[in-house]
Amino acid sequence: MKNSLLVLFLLIFTVTSAQDTYLQCGKIVDVESGKILSEKTIFISGKKIKEIKNGYVVGSAADQVVDLKSKTVLPGFIDMHVHIESESSPSRYLEAFTKNEADVAFQSTVYAEKTLMAGFTTVRDLGGSGVNIALKNAINKGTIVGPRIFTAGKALASTGGHADPTNGRSNELMGDPGPKEGVVNSPEDGRKAVRQRYKEGADVIKITATGGVLSVAKSGQNPQFTIEEIKAITETANDYGMLTAAHAHGDEGMQRAILGGIKTIEHGTLMSEETMDLMIKHNTYMVPTISAGQEAARLAKIPNYLPPVVAKKALEIGPKLNATFAKAYKKGVSMAFGTDSGVSPHGDNAKEFVYMHKAGMPIIETLRSATITNAMLLGENERGQIKEGYIADIVAVNENPLNNVETLTDVIFVMKEGVVYKK
Ligand SMILES: [Zn+2]
Repeated sequence: MKNSLLVLFLLIFTVTSAQDTYLQCGKIVDVESGKILSEKTIFISGKKIKEIKNGYVVGSAADQVVDLKSKTVLPGFIDMHVHIESESSPSRYLEAFTKNEADVAFQSTVYAEKTLMAGFTTVRDLGGSGVNIALKNAINKGTIVGPRIFTAGKALASTGGHADPTNGRSNELMGDPGPKEGVVNSPEDGRKAVRQRYKEGADVIKITATGGVLSVAKSGQNPQFTIEEIKAITETANDYGMLTAAHAHGDEGMQRAILGGIKTIEHGTLMSEETMDLMIKHNTYMVPTISAGQEAARLAKIPNYLPPVVAKKALEIGPKLNATFAKAYKKGVSMAFGTDSGVSPHGDNAKEFVYMHKAGMPIIETLRSATITNAMLLGENERGQIKEGYIADIVAVNENPLNNVETLTDVIFVMKEGVVYKK
């Protein structure tokens, strides 16, 4: 009796888990070598790529076969800088007072789905209200559809700094936010804030090392942390295995961030040659977010869209990103693909490939930056490539992207962890 129960159980288990997937691929971009593999079948079982077979193969009648014979297949893209909770709008500055947490939560599910459908199977979210942590958990549970998320929760700033949530408010509404709210003013505060984020379930730590464009504050580039504060933050983050990122436009704040042990510099707009050398020396990565520079400058030209203090900064700082990226890339600074989507619309993430390529980066390198490099930075050594034993995060486009980068903005097939989301 016991044996027959066991057989029955095994039978049920085998039947319910039997469906494997065969992706018949006309072309696959091997992002590591830069070569195109032709006429292959990717065999996926569970979450993983089990085998890459020559020619077009099918399994049993129970298996799923996807015909991508006329398409080019790539590993799922990874964006190192998004704000999955929000998107630019003319009422952006009012929304802190008009939207409830549930409003933010519902809209974030829409942005998450758009991001995944654009081929971004993993994102690093660099700051929101904390809804981003709940969103990540809901996606991991399979409750809602979205990319795999590594989130900073709420970003860390100093008082009046770029990510101080009460900037621009009346004195009465300013209050005095502290480490719990992401505002730190000493190394001690920095340690407390990192531990608070860890406790809340954040995966990475984001600081705003200099002024920023979209905050209601005068300077878009002044240094806003001391090096001692930054060191306390990165050392504590390292204790908890949390990757660190620093928003930075101005050069001085950038240098402090690099010397303070931050791993990725976001934007890097006014980076000097000396700082580029420092990036190379300390193996710090630049996340260029050209998309955000373009979009901020565009919005600044729409009358009354941005407050005047913000529009002024957007016009000064936004357009400078392309040239700085081009120079830094040429000099040998390591690049991690990131868009700052949320400033630009979610789902438009792949436009960054086009911007990076136009600024002088070969297409294959833009792809490596969005796959192999970003997977490595996130400590995800089974993602970022189409290889046997890797997690099946796979996308497809109509043309060979090495001949036409624009095709990456039109992803027609998306698989995340072995599940097809777009076909
Ligand atoms: Zn950002």
